[in-house]
Parts: sequence; structure tokens; C-alpha cells
Amino acid sequence: MPPTMGIIRACVEKMTGYLPGEMSIDPRTVKLNQNENRHPPSPRVAEAIAGALGGLNLYPESTSRSLRRAAAELYGVSERRVMATNGSDEMLSLFFRCCCSPGDEAVGFHPGYTYYATLAAMNGVRYRPIDFSGEFRLPERLELEPARLVLLANPNSPTGTLFPEGEIRRLLAAAGNGLVVIDEAYADFSGQTSIPLLDEYPNLAVVRTLSKSHSLAGLRVGLGFARPEPLAQFEKVRDFYNLDRLAQAGAEAALRDRDWLRRTVERIVASRERTARGIAGLGLKVYPSAANFLFFRCPGDSGAERISASLRERNILVRHFGNRGISDCLRVSIGTEADMDLFLAGLEKAVRKG
Ligand SMILES: *Cc1c(COP(=O)(O)O)cnc(C)c1O
Repeated sequence: MPPTMGIIRACVEKMTGYLPGEMSIDPRTVKLNQNENRHPPSPRVAEAIAGALGGLNLYPESTSRSLRRAAAELYGVSERRVMATNGSDEMLSLFFRCCCSPGDEAVGFHPGYTYYATLAAMNGVRYRPIDFSGEFRLPERLELEPARLVLLANPNSPTGTLFPEGEIRRLLAAAGNGLVVIDEAYADFSGQTSIPLLDEYPNLAVVRTLSKSHSLAGLRVGLGFARPEPLAQFEKVRDFYNLDRLAQAGAEAALRDRDWLRRTVERIVASRERTARGIAGLGLKVYPSAANFLFFRCPGDSGAERISASLRERNILVRHFGNRGISDCLRVSIGTEADMDLFLAGLEKAVRKG
């Protein structure tokens, strides 16, 4: 008898919960382990949230109409192709719940976003991660069937790799009846999006988040893009009041302040390139990144553990995954210019010590 006396579904009992990066409540911590944005959000977000406070006695508008309209304008699609969710993680969960029955298969790639495997486990879905080939590219031969879902982050996390449009098309062509989910959590840093491909491919869905480029991880807002027919099904299954009034108002203000987004992204991209040169200058292998983080290899046995521990002593958090094939790698989020100076100084000390 399992410890919960059979009250809990076996697939839930067996799964290990998702392990996010370490949190910190110390404001002095240079937190570069969860790809949050260390620049503040647009000041219009706080204004909009303050303006929405008066309505908290009433339920929010259930379809996030005004926010969806702003997203539709921004991305040049019909409103019928957009939905808003409580973080992009809710959107990802809806794909599993709407597209997969227990025992079905979902395909992802390794190394990739590990939350996909957690979602599969909680839904009784078999998760098959396909190894990238070479320097984190899609393999020549894509064997995706009979997957009901194929998930790829573009740019990918934790590697930062950007897959060009031709590669996304190859994935869409190979997926058969499965839904291809392109997770664009970091797309604003890459200047590339698969949203226009919805015109050609009915088996495509694209996910966006305001957690990274818009500096709103704490507000929990994601966007899902798909053709109206599947989107209507996802709408039926989501939490009815999934976005509260403050989240809807704040997210809309953030989307409408395009200049703020452009300036923040420019700063982060410039900082990323400077940081990449700094890491490479210490003799470490750093992979090309189109996102707001860098992925690099550390020398020597347990070099990654040692360097991340040494950075932690200086109150700098980076992410070590320890997974197959990448246990000697670290991922560092791109913070402010000052954050990256501290990081590079700490990294240099750690590398010299080894
Ligand atoms: C951060 C991240 C998300 C989660 O975004 P939320 O909107 O905060 O839930 C989704 N996918 C990838 C690949 C991410 O890195």
C-alpha cells in the first residue's frame, strides 16, 4: 500500500515535483539562476495596477479581453488566435490536459526545459526526450511519431540555442497529428518568432511569457497562440478566472510600452555579448545564446560545482543542472551591467583558484 493509502493517483504518487532554481529573500543576492529580468518593468505597469485596485470587489473579466486585444495588435494576429494564462506554465499544462490521454507520448529535447517532463508525469503521459546532436542542434532524422505533443523552447533553455525557421518547419512537417509547441519564453531577445507560421500550420501552438523580457515574473502572465479551433478547446479547460484584475491591467500596460521593452532588451543583449567575451577570455567554452542567459562549460572534475559554490560564497547565484551530458556546465542569467561585473570578477577568482 502506498503511503497515501491509494487516495492519490499512482502517476502523481510516483513523480518528483519540479525543482525550480533556488529562491533568495536577501535583497543583496545577485540572483542569476532563474533567468528573471534584473531591470525593472515599465513604470506604466505600477500605474495600471494602482488604477485597477478599486475594482477588486468584482470578478475579473474572464477572457482577459483587453489584454488579448493588446497582444493581438502587438503580434499582428486576430484576437481569436490569442489566449491569456496564469504564467506560460498554465498554457503548457493545458496542452497536456487537452491533447494527451494517459499512456500517450510527448516528445521533448535534451537538454531542455525540465518542467515538460513534470507536466507529462502528472498527466500520466510518457515523456521521451530526444538528444540534440552536435552543439545542441536538432538531429538530422526526427522521429516524432506517435507523439501527441512535441515541445521545443526557441531559443532553447538552458543552452540559449536559436533554431532558424527552416528547423521549426522541419519539426512541424515531422510531427504528424501531434501538436508542435514552440515555447518562446526568450524570443524577445532573439528577434525571431514562429507566430506567423500559424497561417500555414494548423498543428502549431506558440507560447509567450511576460516573466522574462517584460520583467514581470512576479505577476504570472503568459500568452498562448494557436488557430481558433484548438484555442477554443484550451479556453474551455483553463481556470475560469485565471488572471486576476491586477495581472490583466499590469500585463496590458507592459505589452503596450514597446519602447521600454526595446530598451531593456537592447541593454541585456549588449550585456550578454560583453559577458560572453569575458567568460571566453578566461578560457572557458561559452555557447552562442539568443536569450537572456549564457551556458558555458567549466574545466576539471566537478569544476561546475566548485565554481558555483565559489560564486555563492560571494552571494552570486547561478544554475547548475547536473543532468546527463551537461554536468560540467553552468547557466548564468544576464542581469544589470553591475551584476555582470560582479559575476565576471567572481568567476575569474574561482577559475584561477582551480
Ligand atoms: C521561464 C520559462 C517559462 C515559464 O514562464 P512563466 O510564464 O513564468 O510560467 C516557460 N518556458 C521556458 C522555457 C522558460 O524558461
